[in-house]
Amino acid sequence: MRVQETDVVVVGAGGDGPALAWRLGELGIDVVVLEAGPFYGNEQWEAPRGAPGGEASSSPDDLSGDLYDEQFTSKEGEMNDPVRGKLRWGPANEDRAPWERTVPGHALISQLAGVGGTTQHYYANHPRAFVGSIDDQPHWPIDYADLVPYYQHLEEAHPIEPAPTTPKAELFFEGARRSGYDLTTGYNVTDEGYRPFPNAIPQPDERLTRDGDYDGDFHYPDVEGDTMAMHEHQGGPQPRGAPFEERARRSSNVSLVPRAMKTGNVEIRPNAFATQILADEGPGSIEATGVEFRDTWAGTTERIDADAVVLAAGCIETPRLWLNSDLPDNGWVGKGLTTHWFDFVAGVFDPGTLEDVIGQRAVEPHQGQAAGSRLDVPDVGGIAVNTFAPGITALSMYGSSRNGWWFEREPSGEPWDTEGRLAGKELKARMADYRRTLTLICHTDDRPRQENGISLDVSTKDEHGYVPLVEWEPHPDDDERRLELARRGAELLNEAGAEHVHRTDAAPILLHMQSSMAMGRVLDEGCEAYDVARLFVADHSALANGVGGANPTHSGQALALRTAEHVAERYFDGVDDPIGSV
Ligand SMILES: Cc1cc2nc3c(=O)[nH]c(=O)nc-3n(C[C@H](O)[C@H](O)[C@H](O)COP(=O)(O)OP(=O)(O)OC[C@H]3O[C@@H](n4cnc5c(N)ncnc54)[C@H](O)[C@@H]3O)c2cc1C
Repeated sequence: MRVQETDVVVVGAGGDGPALAWRLGELGIDVVVLEAGPFYGNEQWEAPRGAPGGEASSSPDDLSGDLYDEQFTSKEGEMNDPVRGKLRWGPANEDRAPWERTVPGHALISQLAGVGGTTQHYYANHPRAFVGSIDDQPHWPIDYADLVPYYQHLEEAHPIEPAPTTPKAELFFEGARRSGYDLTTGYNVTDEGYRPFPNAIPQPDERLTRDGDYDGDFHYPDVEGDTMAMHEHQGGPQPRGAPFEERARRSSNVSLVPRAMKTGNVEIRPNAFATQILADEGPGSIEATGVEFRDTWAGTTERIDADAVVLAAGCIETPRLWLNSDLPDNGWVGKGLTTHWFDFVAGVFDPGTLEDVIGQRAVEPHQGQAAGSRLDVPDVGGIAVNTFAPGITALSMYGSSRNGWWFEREPSGEPWDTEGRLAGKELKARMADYRRTLTLICHTDDRPRQENGISLDVSTKDEHGYVPLVEWEPHPDDDERRLELARRGAELLNEAGAEHVHRTDAAPILLHMQSSMAMGRVLDEGCEAYDVARLFVADHSALANGVGGANPTHSGQALALRTAEHVAERYFDGVDDPIGSV
């Protein structure tokens, strides 16, 4: 078997792994990052879905804006199709099927393979955790204040800034004001209020914000920064023509991976699926010594030996890898999964009302960032403007209720006109109203419970071992919080003047996932495993809960930066100038 040696091996180049690799690289520690999926926009892999291409990439010179433009077409089906799309949970090779998970019930998982992981889809919403979700809920072994320096570091780096107020945001804000909410200022959220989303998307080019007089082609260098073209879900490649790392949506492949490579100490190896964590008896407990992985093109197995191993494979695959490696299970490995138990409400407005409120006769959901404004309700969750492209709107907003067809539901006395799943003429009519519709997502502050999470489906194996069994059911308290958010969202839409409000009563959609390998349960306060020395976790599974319902990536990346400093303190030469206190 081929064997490579390095200081630290990281499994997963998704949302959080690259943050940790960047910091370790800065500290002079050699890192190899194994990534199961492809590396788009890299000259080592000119046809990443058609041929094996190169082996690894460690130079920022390999990154290519031209290739990114060619590969990320922004077409909904070509990019987003979970089976054949470029952004899917599956191998780079387009002729092969997606990888399998066992999911009883009707939950939908949205996670991606590839450098950037699920942030290749993400909307770059970067709120900090609600303060009380860390300091007042009983889950965290550290304080909110411990994360603040790392949040600030990322806010400067990405950068993270309040989203610009587009007409759809103004409609939302007006509904919030009429409902009696105040504007929240600052990033430390303790009270209810509305605000522009802090997003990892720089401000739009000034020329786009003047009075509609821009008539160029929105290409770099004519336009720099945000083009306001709602392209995030399809891979977020705007502005076209820009160098790879100057794309506006700061997914981790665009923002953090180039920084990691520039340290000169980080190598990224895509098409490499880790299948075993290797461990030996150590002083007092077992110690991780490396990982085995499978080259997804060649089918061969290789090994990397390292002084420390970091799992950053996401909330499902990190525990799956742990369990497939027969490491100790204290009952919380894979458990305590939180998902923000989403719901959706949609308001349709007549043109006259819109003219009065926002000065134009349509909402135009496609104008501006996909999610640029929100209402925080600490202890309950949050409500955000969330505008999908039409295909996903039809699916998620109208087609995926857990609770039957709209025409089977009795009038409920709730502040919505219809509820449940739409089809036929009703679905066509709602979709015909797409441009006059404001759609909101509810992010519930669901709480970690041991019965929810990941185990192995021992009846099904793929080429990487037993497949994960993913089970998540809401607790009645989570249902109660979600219902409160749906009501508040519907009332806000009614206050803004909606003529028709629809509530989805959505089936579980697992795209925000947190806390399945939680600090305080499986990991200590430096995110090293209690039961396996030299084994750390740096993805959202390490979060101790769902951070209150705030979008989790800011917290996941902040914690990953902090974990990097703990790795350096415990097993290397320490940190002379730490970002926070280690
Ligand atoms: C449509 C959409 C919009 C979103 N918008 C937002 C948003 O605006 N803000 C926000 O905070 N969050 C958002 N999210 C969620 C966010 O993208 C995820 O929470 C985040 O990416 C999770 O980071 P992670 O590092 O835990 O996992 P991931 O990003 O999923 O990364 C895990 C990586 O590990 C790799 N991997 C897995 N197993 C292995 C293995 N065995 N060997 C090697 N590699 C492996 C995977 O291929 C993947 O690249 C959104 C998600 C979706 C789907």
